[in-house]
Amino acid sequence: MKKIQMVDLQTQYQKIKPEVDQVIFEVIHSTKFIRGPQVKQFEEELANYLNVKHVVACGNGTDALQISLMALDLQPGDEVITADFTFAATVEVIKLLKGKPVLVDVLPDTFNIDPEAVEKAITPRTKAIIPVHLFGQSADMDEIMRIARKYNLAVIEDNAQAIGSDFRFADGTVKKTGTIGTIGTTSFFPSKNLGAYGDGGAIFTDDDRLAHRLRGIVNHGMYKRYYYDEVGVNSRLDTIQAAILRVKLPHLDAYNEARRRAADVYDELFAGCEQVITPYRDPRSKHVFHQYTLKIKNGKRDALADYLKAEGIPFGIYYPVPLHRQKAYADENFRDENFPVTNRLTEEVISLPMHTELDREQQEFIVGKVKNFLRGKV
Ligand SMILES: *Cc1c(COP(=O)(O)O)cnc(C)c1O
Repeated sequence: MKKIQMVDLQTQYQKIKPEVDQVIFEVIHSTKFIRGPQVKQFEEELANYLNVKHVVACGNGTDALQISLMALDLQPGDEVITADFTFAATVEVIKLLKGKPVLVDVLPDTFNIDPEAVEKAITPRTKAIIPVHLFGQSADMDEIMRIARKYNLAVIEDNAQAIGSDFRFADGTVKKTGTIGTIGTTSFFPSKNLGAYGDGGAIFTDDDRLAHRLRGIVNHGMYKRYYYDEVGVNSRLDTIQAAILRVKLPHLDAYNEARRRAADVYDELFAGCEQVITPYRDPRSKHVFHQYTLKIKNGKRDALADYLKAEGIPFGIYYPVPLHRQKAYADENFRDENFPVTNRLTEEVISLPMHTELDREQQEFIVGKVKNFLRGKV
């Protein structure tokens, strides 16, 4: 059996090695390491894939969120509503810009932001909502867009974990995640569904004016060479990363299919296992399984984690601490009792190895171990 890894980037690379090696070599030979032609080409190809008007590449997924908030003119004290159960980047950038993160609870089945909680959290200072399409599945964009229209709020979709996913609205329209809100963002961190070989990120929008702002902000707030109209940042996608991403983008749908197939195999192998709840799939969204996350219902998640560790089986706990309890983001308005779902999830979730190269033999081995533990056979 091939060695089990949480993410197997090496085997994936071997399958596209000649092409990847060649494009890296080309960039080195061109010496256009910064703002080389591959960056613009990749932006256009990604815009085409997503069916969105503008893609602005940047340095990473965290910058993508920060730059989006800057383009929306977030002012100190402005409130931004986002989920308590997610990666910290969102809250971090709101704080950095002196905005006020308003955390709300998530739904227990999809792990995604609870629209009812969003609507309750709106105040006259609310500026934007940031839904995160967690683990590869869309948040309830029907409800979130309805709320955003009703209160005239911007929506930034954090699509770092769900690139290639989509959402079907009640009227039958289907849109790719990241292209539904005012702005969408993503990350090309190597382990993401579309991963570079280093850091990278991108921002999407259909709005010409916003796209212009975004392009200026990523480049020091410079709209005309050496004229600075506003304070910006330096956040670029390296030419080498763009060249690699151009090789990988045509494989994205196949990569996501491979993840979905691996998820199907896990679901099948866990069928009938009562202490385990396999990931819910919202029929309105194509789940692209950035993570395959189980809920362990018998209070033994930590013991299971210890056992898997001892057995050499990789796993991840995303996320072990709700954001409202993090030291860096402490806020007197966060009340622990307002986050019952997140609090419970942080004690129940465990993510199993998930990547494009998993095979059935590995998955049978992993599930066999989990089941042994849950049956008390160890
Ligand atoms: C990975 C990730 C980010 C940040 O991306 P980086 O490229 O690592 O900065 C932001 N939000 C979510 C939900 C993520 O998973």
